Amino acid sequence: MERRVRVRFAPSPTGPLHIGGVRTALYNYLFARKHGGDFILRIEDTDSTRWVAGAEEYIIKSLAWCNIRFDEGVVEGGPHAPYRQSERKNIYFQYARQLVESGHAYYAFDTPEELEALRKDAESKGGAFTYNYQVREQLKTSLNPAFANYEERISRGEKWVIRFKVPANQEIHMFDLIRGEVVVNSSTLDDKVLFKSSDGLPTYHLANVVDDYLMQISHVIRGEEWLPSLPLHVLLYKALGWEEVMPQFAHLPLLLKPDGKGKLSKRDGDRMGFPVFPLHWVDPATGEVSLGYDDYGFLPEAFVNFLALLGWHPGNDQEIFSMEELIETFSIDRISKSGAKFDFEKAKWFNQQYLRQKSNQQLLPIIKPIVEKQGVTVNDDYLLRIIDMVRERLILLTDFWKQAHFFFVDPDTYDADVVKKRWKDNVPQLIQQLKNELSQLEHFKADELKEFLHHFVEKNNANMGAVMNALRLCMVGGSYGPELPLILETLGKETTLRRIENALKKL
Ligand code: GLU
Repeated sequence: MERRVRVRFAPSPTGPLHIGGVRTALYNYLFARKHGGDFILRIEDTDSTRWVAGAEEYIIKSLAWCNIRFDEGVVEGGPHAPYRQSERKNIYFQYARQLVESGHAYYAFDTPEELEALRKDAESKGGAFTYNYQVREQLKTSLNPAFANYEERISRGEKWVIRFKVPANQEIHMFDLIRGEVVVNSSTLDDKVLFKSSDGLPTYHLANVVDDYLMQISHVIRGEEWLPSLPLHVLLYKALGWEEVMPQFAHLPLLLKPDGKGKLSKRDGDRMGFPVFPLHWVDPATGEVSLGYDDYGFLPEAFVNFLALLGWHPGNDQEIFSMEELIETFSIDRISKSGAKFDFEKAKWFNQQYLRQKSNQQLLPIIKPIVEKQGVTVNDDYLLRIIDMVRERLILLTDFWKQAHFFFVDPDTYDADVVKKRWKDNVPQLIQQLKNELSQLEHFKADELKEFLHHFVEKNNANMGAVMNALRLCMVGGSYGPELPLILETLGKETTLRRIENALKKL
């Protein structure tokens, strides 16, 4: 019988979600939808020392922004609720205990200080300390004959942990859907802690495997950084008697720095001026702000399309994919093994393509809040006209205000270079005279204004460029924007005259 596809995204709420995490969630989502399966959001918050306020909410908000939807999870609930591991506390101990009873795990009583001393000692001899088959019977463990009374220690309230008893010198064969067969010798592994009495909580490894089992996860699709944990996880499935229903694994390639040298980090983003988080984030401890793709003016669809192609290729040269098309085309066998180089210019290109695809009407509700955020109230018809005029110049949504602010507010500064180049000789007098004549005009329409400006230049034996550039400077404060007659018509006579007046006073 075919197994029902059930996949999960299982972030730890230790800070804002990195775009690599968003990509992991996206691939899981695409895979679930493609196979008509279920997608689950499970919050892995058993490490309370790394818990960060607001991180879980941030993860949920970010994925909703990307239109990545869950069938079950901390928000949706579902048949396996609760989906937050801290609320599943009482589930895990029985499995740790089962492993001890079946001889796959043991109690250890070493204090942190004792472990530190063992580490130091090994280092001083030029080695490294590993808690494994070579030492576990000599240390303070339930495997050491000298500690046969370990149950007594436990009942005395002494602190303990349960460690996994990794078998010595065994070949562990694993299969990864992206990398194929992986073989590791068990002697290279250490006896990881599975459960701690200090907080009554499992560690990541135990909680992750137990929950994947209980939630009937069919495929684990996660970042490459978890590949080293796979041998332990496979041993755990076997030891717990769950090998038959062990999920299939796929470890996704890393997102690399733009030069391909190493993993993409938050610092790269800060240094090179691009975001590595989906949404705006304020660190609750330090107040430090990290800008997100939303701040930079990305459309979520463009961001998702860009991310989808970082590590996966469709097998042809199509680049623009709606979510529906991604779902249809996605497959694990076209995920690459090697890391994917991050390319911010490409991200911007996607955004530009998506902006171009939208009609003015579709852009209106996206752009309106940008204008309102500047304290401007604007009516839809006027805004639609402006959108039509500047849309071709937009790469990011933030470009809208840069390209169009003068349609809403008078310029309060003038570009110094342009002033120096354009506001000289007899230009101010010409502009004064132009103002007088413009004030006599009855119709303020682009075609007529164009004609009028031609006449004016001719009549005064002036230079066309000189007049037009100076007039543009008065209207926009610089040397950009759509065709000048269009700007004049849109602003209207009153505003046009006022802006000339302002410039004559200020320049
Ligand atoms: N909690 C782990 C993380 O934060 C999950 C890894 C996994 O998917 O197994 O990435």
